Amino acid sequence: MIIVLKPSTTEEQLNKFTNMLKNDYQVKVNKWDGVHSTVLGLIGDTTKIDIEYIDAQDIVESVKRVQEPYKKANRKFHPENSIIKINDEISIGDGSLHIMAGPCSVESEEQIVGIAKDVKASGATLLRGGAFKPRTSPYAFQGLKAEGLDLLKAARKATGLPIVTEIMRASHIDMFENVDIIQVGARNMQNFELLKELGKTNKPILLKRGLSATIEEWLMSAEYIMAGGNNNVILCERGIRTYETFTRNTLDVSAIPIIKRLSHLPVVVDPSHASGKSWLVEPLAMAAVAAGADGLIIEVHNDPPHALSDGAQSLTPEQFDGVAKNVFALKDALSKVQ
Ligand code: PEP
Ligand code: MN
Repeated sequence: MIIVLKPSTTEEQLNKFTNMLKNDYQVKVNKWDGVHSTVLGLIGDTTKIDIEYIDAQDIVESVKRVQEPYKKANRKFHPENSIIKINDEISIGDGSLHIMAGPCSVESEEQIVGIAKDVKASGATLLRGGAFKPRTSPYAFQGLKAEGLDLLKAARKATGLPIVTEIMRASHIDMFENVDIIQVGARNMQNFELLKELGKTNKPILLKRGLSATIEEWLMSAEYIMAGGNNNVILCERGIRTYETFTRNTLDVSAIPIIKRLSHLPVVVDPSHASGKSWLVEPLAMAAVAAGADGLIIEVHNDPPHALSDGAQSLTPEQFDGVAKNVFALKDALSKVQ
């Protein structure tokens, strides 16, 4: 962290400020005297320093971070890739490609068990399905809630596929005890109280990127979970809001290699919510795999025109089968050139 002091700073103010930095934050303070102002360079762990607090001090002209404000999610302090183990067969981030597939919403036992069997046959290794749904309209289908969780468990029993489903509030954590991966949806990426509570569990968390979140904000949300002691975080790029209206969101493909550079956490891509259109799912999934994604999360419905949510972006099981084949073929081909 670099702090530029105002020219009017007295020796006494400088000493008081420097001692406060050393004592409160255990950092080393280097000082350079320029012609008009003094510059301080802070060395050590500056993640706990509130940059706005420093900026608010009378003697401070400006302040700039030169190190990322996240530590646990930072590759600098953890050079090896994190591998998130879901069960004995599935580890996300180990170089293999995993597809989580299933409907946007769990609608009935027949629907979720049928889709689970179909996507498993096509190579999906995890089942997705929403039981608690964050909908833009309060009048839209809100999910089957606790019953939806039970139906997901029935589908897991029938197929062996681990289940991924979204949590919306911290008071539901006990209900999610038996879920394999807890999804934090885009709308809750900055629900810090929820993130803190999830940090106290040891569940794998699929942390979706917020609708308009920067990569740094997204990593800071991962940091919230990890700061509580839960390092089992999987990041999910699901498109961000831009000026483009043709697609539901804009898939930020560059986020994949950027996350890989900045962090050791695995990245999964959701081409369904990124595009909002079923015909765009395959090309976006291919782009994600080519860019280094560790997994994909894809919406699949047995009858998309009658889906209770997100029908337009849902693939039929047959379409999913074709997409999965091409995606795995691409992954295979890439492993030969990388
Ligand atoms: C979902 O996965 O169905 C969902 C609501 O996703 P997101 O939070 O990315 O919008
Ligand atoms: Mn959806």
